Amino acid sequence: MIDTHENTALQDIVALEEAHTSGVYPKRPLAIIRGQGCTVWDADGQTYLDATSGQGVALLGHSHPAVAEAISQQAQTLITCPEIFYNDQRAALYEQLSSVLPDELDRYFLCNSGAEAIEGALKVARLLTNRTGIVATMRGFHGRTLGALSLTWSKTYREPFAPWQPEVNHIVFNNIEAASDAITENTAAVVVEVVQGEGGVYPADADYLQALRQLCTERGALLIIDEIQTGFGRTGRWFAFEHAGIVPDVIAMGKGIAGGVPMGAVAWRGELGTLAKGAHGSTFGGNPLASAAAVAAMGAMRDQNLPQRSAELGAWLLEELNSRDLPGVREIRGLGLMIGIDLRIRVTPVLQALQDHGVLALPAGKTVLRLLPPLIITQDELLRIVEAIQLALQEATA
Ligand SMILES: *Cc1c(COP(=O)(O)O)cnc(C)c1O
Repeated sequence: MIDTHENTALQDIVALEEAHTSGVYPKRPLAIIRGQGCTVWDADGQTYLDATSGQGVALLGHSHPAVAEAISQQAQTLITCPEIFYNDQRAALYEQLSSVLPDELDRYFLCNSGAEAIEGALKVARLLTNRTGIVATMRGFHGRTLGALSLTWSKTYREPFAPWQPEVNHIVFNNIEAASDAITENTAAVVVEVVQGEGGVYPADADYLQALRQLCTERGALLIIDEIQTGFGRTGRWFAFEHAGIVPDVIAMGKGIAGGVPMGAVAWRGELGTLAKGAHGSTFGGNPLASAAAVAAMGAMRDQNLPQRSAELGAWLLEELNSRDLPGVREIRGLGLMIGIDLRIRVTPVLQALQDHGVLALPAGKTVLRLLPPLIITQDELLRIVEAIQLALQEATA
């Protein structure tokens, strides 16, 4: 048995997990047991700079005091309360969400993950349009539940689960002619990321998103933007669609919305209407614990001006990376603190070398090194990450 008060050896943790893991996760030989700000600790007391934010979640860093305090307070007040009752924390969250979103996006459905937010968005689109077709994009990622998976492009993720939800059409990303051909009088919604994350960090052009917005309006289809990875300041604005000056009909949110506590949310234009009683639901959706965490998280993001910080630091980081002699690099793409370094070599050994230099980063596909650092990160910490990347690439290409 694990004594959680001891500095448990890595092998014990690995052995226990390996005995019971589902097997679906490619795991690194590292047990993370503590996090503070941008730093995480492994079971042996080693520290790492976390450029993963725990898969894009820890926008405020790890164990943010305002979030930890809100969770702790709420845990002693009321943890669970279904949406058949009203609740003060949920009401505060609705108010907080409406203050960071455009005025039009004023109807919300709360759930517990990104994939659930996509499922909710699909239901909203089908119910509010009375249509069934969905247009999604090649290289897009929208989650692993069967509905969301049907929109996800990756063969590895999708192929074992055929047949998928019918009437999903995948089109070339960033190509408006393809969208025009695909959107018909049966299209309920077009679902798109502003920056494709898992697919390799590919930003959409602003004029593509503007044209897509117009096409959807003309043809009566809803524009659903998946902001699960890009939302809450990641790309340098509260929401990435703001870069294109458009307002979508529906957005899906998740990842960092509640400071690391599991939560997802759907927002849509109130003028489209509300849903019929019983049309959707979730036991844990909008629970007071997650709502309190989200209110605290958004408050801290606002107080620390994180969207602007992400814009400034992201621009600086992109410039710094481009100014370096980085061997094996094909292209560097990004928006705010969401950056992809497209390599001529496989990314896995580079990630391992980076870890040896005390930095944790993510892949996006087989050849893209993805950086999703907490938005509270300092320029000094980013510089350490850049230096580790340079060393790791030199080693991996030697
Ligand atoms: C992570 C992610 C999802 C899925 O979120 P889960 O919480 O893992 O279900 C969906 N879309 C995008 C763009 C994501 O980055």
